[in-house]
Amino acid sequence: MIKDADGKVVWDLGAYAFLEEDDAPASVHPSLWRLAQLNVEHGLFQACERIYQIRGFDIANMTIIEGNTGIIVVDTLSSAETARAGIDLYFQQRGKRPIVAVVYTHTHADHWAGIGGIVEEADVTAGRVQVVAPDKFLDFAVSENVIAGNAMARRAQYQFGLRLPKGVRGQVDAALGKTIARGTVTLFPPNDLIRQTGERRVIDGVEIVFQMAPNSEAPAEFHLYFPALRALNIAENATHLFHNLLPFRGAEVRDALAWSKYLNEAIELFVGKTDVLMAQHHWPIWGSDRIRDYLTKQRDLYKYVHDQTLRLINHGFTAPEIAEQLKLPESLAKEWFNRDYYGTVRHNAKAIYQKYLGWYDSNPAHLDPLPPAQAAKKYLEYMGGAEAIIRRAREDFRQGHYRWVAEIMNRVVFAEPQNREARTLAADALEQLGYLSEAATWRNSYLCAAFELRNGVPPPRSLTPPGLNALRALTIDMVFDFFGVRLNGPKAEGKKIAINWNFSDTNQQYVLNLDNSALTHVANKQLATADATLTLTRATLDSILMRKTTFPEAVQKGLVKIDGQPMKLLELFGLMENFNPMFEIVTPKGG
Ligand SMILES: [Zn+2]
Repeated sequence: MIKDADGKVVWDLGAYAFLEEDDAPASVHPSLWRLAQLNVEHGLFQACERIYQIRGFDIANMTIIEGNTGIIVVDTLSSAETARAGIDLYFQQRGKRPIVAVVYTHTHADHWAGIGGIVEEADVTAGRVQVVAPDKFLDFAVSENVIAGNAMARRAQYQFGLRLPKGVRGQVDAALGKTIARGTVTLFPPNDLIRQTGERRVIDGVEIVFQMAPNSEAPAEFHLYFPALRALNIAENATHLFHNLLPFRGAEVRDALAWSKYLNEAIELFVGKTDVLMAQHHWPIWGSDRIRDYLTKQRDLYKYVHDQTLRLINHGFTAPEIAEQLKLPESLAKEWFNRDYYGTVRHNAKAIYQKYLGWYDSNPAHLDPLPPAQAAKKYLEYMGGAEAIIRRAREDFRQGHYRWVAEIMNRVVFAEPQNREARTLAADALEQLGYLSEAATWRNSYLCAAFELRNGVPPPRSLTPPGLNALRALTIDMVFDFFGVRLNGPKAEGKKIAINWNFSDTNQQYVLNLDNSALTHVANKQLATADATLTLTRATLDSILMRKTTFPEAVQKGLVKIDGQPMKLLELFGLMENFNPMFEIVTPKGG
């Protein structure tokens, strides 16, 4: 159990003690039970001479390489608290050594957000700690989670089962690890970017060769090869499962073809001279033959699903039709490490369809259908009302047609959100689907939906999203883009407001312009006719973004100087909305 400074639990493997049972209970897919047991293994593991891994202290791994005088840490988990606990375990076992470098393998927060727990920001800024990352790291590390951040955070609860009780009828696993740690999010920008495959660094006597893998599992990602140690770190591009081409939290769709090609390249570049393969989730593999077999079958998994989806697309099949018929060949399907634990063949095929053709299946009956609640009312009307539907759905439930019962009861719930019987039958069907799922992501989603149908949407844990500390890594461009997303367009109708922004510490000037209910900005410009001119520091803007202070408070304290009409500024901020972090998903909004 890992706690934060206030004694709040951020990580608790004790909650998974129920996994000690050898046999899977009827409510968990046996294959998922196996993975859930493997993911509860935790501690400090040696991969080879000089390389260690902290596993089970968070969803991801921390890899530690021993240099001549200190250590290199690859990835820093998802919170300062878990990273601290991990590095303390290492120090306890191997002796305290200085951290000379940190490597971020890619842009997902479970690989960088803990850095504040193990190194000082000043040491990074001054270059005393080298922080190595793939090109464009900062562009994607936070931006991916900002513009659509509120929706993503809510949807992530379904993907990981974050608010579900843990247990044989609840959350058992998150596929890449147990779950995501809570705790303090930190982000220190890298001071050493890698841009090309084949680039090398020698850090504290350890030689590292990098292989770039952009637009694979993450928009910016690389693999690390250690020639002297005959070790390959494949980041998150080959873990012991079929990964997601489109995570349930929502993201830009990933490129299966590119992914497969990077694995192919890794095989060609490194496998003949590699004795141990590790990743930033799960456990390593040893032995050249096993490594080749594993990487080859992972490569072919992505290639097969990509190519066969496109074959079926070109025969005119739509996404659900492809998902229903696409099956892996036995040589791929029989490997545990290719199983549908996180991504699945069924939903990854839909992701590939989306990547090439988008959401529209070209059938105009689907071009402009009624939205869910309106369509639901018509379904009920045509089918003789809720009672008649529920009666027939119960029969289908008895016969195990859970997919259909979930589908039709969702219509009833959207037409009559207060209908207890409908909600319960919908929840029953979703639970059965969850218990049947080999994929942790599917199970978590089904069970979260069932939980909320039975109990309603839980209240938000806190109004301050936990990732706010990372917002200061955003460029001003990204901040203004996000302001645009928060603008209530209809309320802004007919208003024209122009504000000059003047950042005194970074020497940046911007014009932020509201016109036609759209917010746009121009850099390196000040408008003589602006309604107001603001002078402030980037640090003040960060405090406001991180909700440590408010705009009016900062003005009062003299941290923001306003020339011109302060009312115009207030008017603009009055048009910006905050988002409900716990919006409805399986019931109509406000239902
Ligand atoms: Zn990860």
